[in-house]
Amino acid sequence: MARMVTSATRPHQFSSKAAGESLLDSCPPSAEHSAGMQTPDWGALEAVDGVRLSWNVWPNSRMEAQKCVVPFGALVTPRKVLPEMPVVPYDPVRCKGCAACLNPYARVDFNAKLWICPFCYTRNHFPQHYASISETNLPAELFPTYTTIEYQLQRPAASPPAYMFVVDVCLIEEELGALKQSLTQALSLLPENASVGLITYGTHVHVHELGFDECPKSYVFRGSKEFTSQQIQDQLFRSTGGARPRPGQQQTNGAAVTGHQSKFLVPLADCEFQLTSVLEELSRDSFSALPDCRPARCTGTAVAVAATLLASSVSNTPARAMLFVGGPATDGGGQVVGKELETAMRSHKDIAKGAAPFMTKATKYYETVATQLCTNGHCLDVFACSLDQVGLAEMKVCAEKTGGMVVLAESFANTVFKTSFARMFTTEGEDALGVSSGGVFEVITSRDVKTAGCVGPCAALDKKTLPGAIADVPVGSGGTTAWKLCSLSNDTSLAVFFEPANRGDGKDGTQTAPQQQSQQFFLQFVTMCTVPSGETRLRVTTTTRRWTEGANVNDIAAGFDQEAGAALIARQLTWKMETEDEFDCPAATRWLDRSLIRLCQRFGDYRKDDPASFQLMPQFSIYPQFMFNLRRSQFVQVFNNSPDETAYYRMILWRENVLNSLVMIQPTLMAYSFNGPPEPVLLDVCSIAPDRILVLDAYFSVVIFHGQTIAQWRKANYQEQPEHEAFKQLLEAPKADAQEILGRRFPVPRLVDCDQHGSQARFLLAKLNPSATYNSAGMGGGSSDIIFTDDVSLQVFMEHLKRLAVAS
Ligand SMILES: [Zn+2]
Repeated sequence: MARMVTSATRPHQFSSKAAGESLLDSCPPSAEHSAGMQTPDWGALEAVDGVRLSWNVWPNSRMEAQKCVVPFGALVTPRKVLPEMPVVPYDPVRCKGCAACLNPYARVDFNAKLWICPFCYTRNHFPQHYASISETNLPAELFPTYTTIEYQLQRPAASPPAYMFVVDVCLIEEELGALKQSLTQALSLLPENASVGLITYGTHVHVHELGFDECPKSYVFRGSKEFTSQQIQDQLFRSTGGARPRPGQQQTNGAAVTGHQSKFLVPLADCEFQLTSVLEELSRDSFSALPDCRPARCTGTAVAVAATLLASSVSNTPARAMLFVGGPATDGGGQVVGKELETAMRSHKDIAKGAAPFMTKATKYYETVATQLCTNGHCLDVFACSLDQVGLAEMKVCAEKTGGMVVLAESFANTVFKTSFARMFTTEGEDALGVSSGGVFEVITSRDVKTAGCVGPCAALDKKTLPGAIADVPVGSGGTTAWKLCSLSNDTSLAVFFEPANRGDGKDGTQTAPQQQSQQFFLQFVTMCTVPSGETRLRVTTTTRRWTEGANVNDIAAGFDQEAGAALIARQLTWKMETEDEFDCPAATRWLDRSLIRLCQRFGDYRKDDPASFQLMPQFSIYPQFMFNLRRSQFVQVFNNSPDETAYYRMILWRENVLNSLVMIQPTLMAYSFNGPPEPVLLDVCSIAPDRILVLDAYFSVVIFHGQTIAQWRKANYQEQPEHEAFKQLLEAPKADAQEILGRRFPVPRLVDCDQHGSQARFLLAKLNPSATYNSAGMGGGSSDIIFTDDVSLQVFMEHLKRLAVAS
C-alpha cells in the first residue's frame, strides 16, 4: 500500500519552537468550534467522487461571496479510479430542460413516472424502458450512494489511437541511440492494431512511408520554409491521389477507415519489421552544423506536418503526435533562437524586457497548430530532453490545450524520460496512467451558481447550456460550460471556478425551487471519453452543498477546505501570470499578499491594532503557510528557472489533484534516524541534523539528504559490516520510500542522493524555510545549515501578516 501524503503528514509549522512563536498555537477553539470539533476530512469526500471544493458552504449573496477572497471552485479528477463506482451498460437519461443526467437528487414521482430535475426543476417523464420503476425497483443512477456513476455507452469499440512519432535527428550519437532504444521498446508495448507513423526532422522534415516494402522511402519538406496545411497535404498526397481522404469522406463511414489506407500511418502489425529497421538505421542529420553554430532544427515545421498528416488521415479519431526534441528550434515557423551559439536562448529577464525576438511569432505559430490539433481531437506529447532549452514555453500551448503529456529531462538516457515514456504504454496494474482520449467535460449547475471557467489541460468548447449559466468575469478558460479533452489520464484534474449569484437572481421561469431543496445547490460534472479498452464511457458526478446567510462568517468558515483553496489559488494565480502581461512576479506576490491579508481580516479574530490578539480559525490554520510557500515557489519566483522550466512546472500543476499540487507548492520532508520510525518534520533548515537522513519530496525531484555523521559512516562503508545491520537498514528505508514515490508519479521525478555540505545539497536547501539565515546565524543555529538568502522567513512573514491584518 502506497504511503499517501495527507494533511496528517504535514507538520504544523507553527507548532515548532524553531519556527517562532505562533499565532495559532494559542488559538483556543471558539464557541462554535468547541472541543472535539475537527476540521472535516475533505479528502474522504474526494475519495468518493473525485471532487474537492474550496468552500463547502456558500454565502447566498454575491457581495458576501466576494469577501471570501479564495475563489469558489472545485478540483475535479474526472477519471479518478473509484473502486466503489458502479458501471452500467446503458446510456443516461437526461433532463430535457438543462441536459443534466438523472441522479440521486432528482425527486421522483413513481405514480406519474416522472422526475423533477434538481438543477432546473423541469418535470421529465421517464423513457419507456423505465416503466417498471418503483421505490423498490430503482435504476442504479437513483441509488443515494451512487453520486458518481459511469455509463458504458452503447457504441462500437474504438480502435486504439494512432501514434505519430516525431523524432529529432540533430541529437548527438549517444542521445539518438538511447531514444531509438526507447522507441523500439514502445513498439513492443503498443497493441498490434494501433496505427503508427514516423517523421524525422533536422534540416529537413522527412515523412517516412511505411506501406512500401522495397526500400525506405520518405517525403521531404524544407525545414526553413513555412507550409500551410494545404501545401503539406498537396505534397504528401499529390502523387497518389487515392490515399488522401476527400472532405467529408471520413464522416460517411464512421470509423477511421481512411486512416488505415494511409501509407504514412499503418497498423503496427503490418509495419513493425519495416519501422523497426528504419529506426535502427536512423542516423544523425547529414547536414552538420556550421562552426560555432547550433544545428538547423525545424521542430515547428515537423510538428505542423505531423498535425496536418493526422488531420487528413484520422480526423476525429484519437491520435497522438509524440514529439522527441533534444535542442532548440533554429529554423522554420517555430524558431526560438538564432543558429549562432553566441546568441543565448531567451531567459525570463529577456522576455520581461522585450528582448526575446522570436517568442511572439513562435507562440502564434504553435497556437495555429494547437487549434488544428484540437479541432481534430488529436494531441501533442512533448518529450524534451536537453541540457539547453528547446522552446517548450512557445510550443506548450499545443500540449496544454490537447492534454498531451509533457516530460522535461536532461537526456534521453535519463530515467526521468525512459521510465515516464514507457509508462505511457502500460495499460495494466497500479502504474497504468489510463490514457483516455476524445474527452468532453461538461459542468451543469443550479441556477444560482454561474460557471466562471476552467484551468487545466483542455480547450473551451462553444457551449452555453442555459441563459445565465456563465459568469460575466471569466477565471481561466471561460465563456462556456464545456471543454474538450483530446487526451486525459486517470490523474488529470481540472480546476473549475464558480461565481455564487444572488439567490433568486437566476432567470426565473415558471418553475420554482421546492422548499426543501432551496437550501442546497447542485453541481454536476459529466465527462465522456474513450478509455484505453476502446469503450466509450460517460461519467456523471452529482454533488450538493448548502447555502448560508451571507453574514454568517462562522458557518462559511466551517466549510473551508484550505488544501483545495490553496490549490485553486495556485491555478488562478499562474493562469493570470501566463495570460496577463502586467501580472509579473512582483505583481503576483503583491496580489497573493493582499488576498491573504483580506482573508485574515475576514476570518481572523482580533482586536484592532493589536497583532498579539490575532487568531485564525482551525479551518485556516495552515493556509498562510501554503501561501508563504507558494509565493516563494517556482510558480511565482520564475527568475531562478528558465522559461521552459516554468512552462513545464505550470503545465504539471494544471493537471494534478489537490494533494499533488500541495507537494509542488510546499514540499514534504521526512526524517529518518535511530531514534524512532520515520517522521514528518518541518520544512525548515532546523530539521537538518548530522545523525538524520532527510527525504524531501518536492514533486519534480525527490532528494535523499544524509546528515554529516551519516554521510561519514556511509563513506566508511559501515553498512557492509554485519555488526552495523541497523545502520544498513537506516540507509535503505529512505531509498525504498523514495522509490515508492518515483513509482507512482508521472512524469517520474528526478532522484537526488546527496550529503550534507555536498554540492547537490542545494536541491534540499533551496526548498527550506530560511529560519536560520546569514543574519540570524549568531542566534544559535547549532548544527543547522545556513541559507544565504534575503528571503523572509516564515516567522517574519507571519509577524507582518498579523500586523497588517489587524491594522485599522
Ligand atoms: Zn434540468
